[in-house]
Amino acid sequence: MSQSLSSRQLQSFRVELEELLAEEPGSGAPGCEDCRSALARLDAGVFGVCTVCGEYIEINRLVASPTETYCLSCRTAAERKRGC
Ligand SMILES: [Zn+2]
Repeated sequence: MSQSLSSRQLQSFRVELEELLAEEPGSGAPGCEDCRSALARLDAGVFGVCTVCGEYIEINRLVASPTETYCLSCRTAAERKRGC
């Protein structure tokens, strides 16, 4: 089962995302955009929530990729749709 993130975890994700953004100053790289929107979701209090189904994203997947916006099942479905 998935669970909500503690404020401590949210804070460490924020630091990580801000560091990622700082590494690409002013660049329009796709990764940069992902970081920006992840930070926006942090501010909105919806970080770590799947943008498709609204379930919490698995913590181990967020740790691996803080810009992840899909839970595992939605990610799998999206990739299947793309024909990967
Ligand atoms: Zn989902």
